[in-house]
Amino acid sequence: MFRPLIQGWKRLSAPVSALSVRSTSNGSNCRLALANKVAVVTGSTNGIGFSIARRLAQDGAHVVISSRKQQNVDRAVATLKEEGLCVTGTVCHVGKAEDREQLVATALESCGGVDFLVCVAGTNPLVGSTLRSSEQIWDKILGVNVKAPALLLSQLLPHMENRGQGSVVLVSSVAAYIPLPRLGVYNVSKTALLGLTKTLAVELAPKNIRVNCLAPGVINTDFGRVVRTKGKKSSLFQPPVLSPYRVGQPEDCAGIVSFLCSPEASYITGENIAVAGWSPHL
Ligand code: NAP
Repeated sequence: MFRPLIQGWKRLSAPVSALSVRSTSNGSNCRLALANKVAVVTGSTNGIGFSIARRLAQDGAHVVISSRKQQNVDRAVATLKEEGLCVTGTVCHVGKAEDREQLVATALESCGGVDFLVCVAGTNPLVGSTLRSSEQIWDKILGVNVKAPALLLSQLLPHMENRGQGSVVLVSSVAAYIPLPRLGVYNVSKTALLGLTKTLAVELAPKNIRVNCLAPGVINTDFGRVVRTKGKKSSLFQPPVLSPYRVGQPEDCAGIVSFLCSPEASYITGENIAVAGWSPHL
């Protein structure tokens, strides 16, 4: 039963390699942790995904930006290119199989392979009662939030295997631990991601691919503002229940993802990490 895990341990215990040297756009050489690596980030034209994409690119990766709307992809790519970062973009609604295929094709054509997958895209229709949610709502939320990351990873897996190692980061939520009012199906989808992380970490350890999960608290994004506005009557949204500290910024979620992709994290897999100004999962 534990054979895959033990095989994985053998590989995950390989020593951390030295940071590579890479030329930046201004011609200077510096040591960047993710140099010569390729990262695919879903839901990366705004909010948390955009911050993660920017940070991975700042740390040396070529980042493939994606989201549903072409104009958002164009704007995000232009912004990051103006900052001298190495990015490519394509439209990808993660719930659509043909869009996922296009995302994989873009990564391979533009960058020749993939080392990291960061699944940020998520959906959150406010539905009220869990048990009054229609089958359509269940299918949409579980399809986009849970199935899509697994299906996209299965499409990318052969290419990540070709690289000999890889890192996957899923984005859950503190709603996985503390159910948010009127967001029942969303809460369930985010809890499912914690389990998906553990399962994939064991399954993919023999391939030297690590799988970890981020559980953001309330983050100051368009999405976060909707959740806060709709839930403001609930005591759950008042400090100190979700955070005694402050509301998070998208950048608060970026450094940890870069770390989880880096060689420094080569012995970390299957972890669900809260970035919430407080840890709700004791
Ligand atoms: P956001 O600021 O609204 O940004 C969402 C991004 O995802 C946009 O780039 C959007 O671009 C894209 N997107 C939305 N649906 C998509 C889909 N089906 N396929 C591909 N891309 C899609 O949201 P955010 O706050 O950064 O949230 C990102 C993730 O963090 C979500 O999974 C959410 O559950 C999680 N989270 C957020 C918070 C929070 O407080 N903000 C807390 C915990 C967890 P397009 O419109 O162009 O598609």
